[in-house]
Amino acid sequence: NEDRSLEFQVTLFGSNERLILVRDVTKMQRLEVMRQDFIANVSHELRTPLTVLSGYLETFSDHAESLPSKWQRGLTLMRGQSLRMQQLVEDLLTLSSLETSNFKAGREPLRVARLINSIQTDAQALSSGQHSLFLEVDESLGIYGCEKELRSAFSNLVFNAVKYTPAGTVITLRWYQNTEGAYFQVEDKGQGIDPAFLPHLTERFYRIDKGRSSSTGGTGLGLAIVKHVMLRHQGQLEVASQPDIGSSFTCCFPLNKTVKLTHKR
Ligand code: ADP
Repeated sequence: NEDRSLEFQVTLFGSNERLILVRDVTKMQRLEVMRQDFIANVSHELRTPLTVLSGYLETFSDHAESLPSKWQRGLTLMRGQSLRMQQLVEDLLTLSSLETSNFKAGREPLRVARLINSIQTDAQALSSGQHSLFLEVDESLGIYGCEKELRSAFSNLVFNAVKYTPAGTVITLRWYQNTEGAYFQVEDKGQGIDPAFLPHLTERFYRIDKGRSSSTGGTGLGLAIVKHVMLRHQGQLEVASQPDIGSSFTCCFPLNKTVKLTHKR
């Protein structure tokens, strides 16, 4: 009378012979649920103490001029690290909600060009004007999707392009359609990625250069988030990169999710 989860695999031999494999995956599924719950609970519990710590550190920093310089340096370090922890907790909560919540596409088709415009503005601010961000977007191409999730996925890709490419380089954001699908692409002219690292990029906590990534404020969860968002939209993330030439990250959507927008609002 216990709820069990079984997986069936049927192989046909000739016209009337069949091999049926039944696998009991109950334990695996329970462990997976426990893992997801544990991460969600810990992240949630860490949120409040971290907010309190960061709040007090901000207040102390406002009055730091009177402190000895050694203390001021310590305070700056603590602020940086507490912001990093907050980012980590937020990313973990985002990932666990992507894994456990039901997918909700907006009722109205999403005006992707508008979304990309606003991400471009945020990215310019992050880059302090040191990168040129170009847009090549089809204004009339919309999609049925979740705005919050797509904003998070697209922002991760665009902010990565800013974080991991040298000042003065060009970043191009594209949104277009062909006969096979619709694509949001971020192309940069940065250092590129060694082919050996490419298969691991969407693993949780994977960072190519850990030292450098921590100085750029990375958590190693950004591309895992993008992968999950794309799976929930029945799409996928494709990465192409050449060391010393640059990288392109492409979110590929199925055609049946797209829509032609007729009027501007
Ligand atoms: P992070 O929070 O470290 O940025 P991500 O999951 O977003 O984590 O990215 C994983 C790693 O992939 C990064 O640490 C970085 O080493 C590499 N990476 C991501 N985007 C780029 C890019 N545009 N150019 C070069 N390396 C990149």
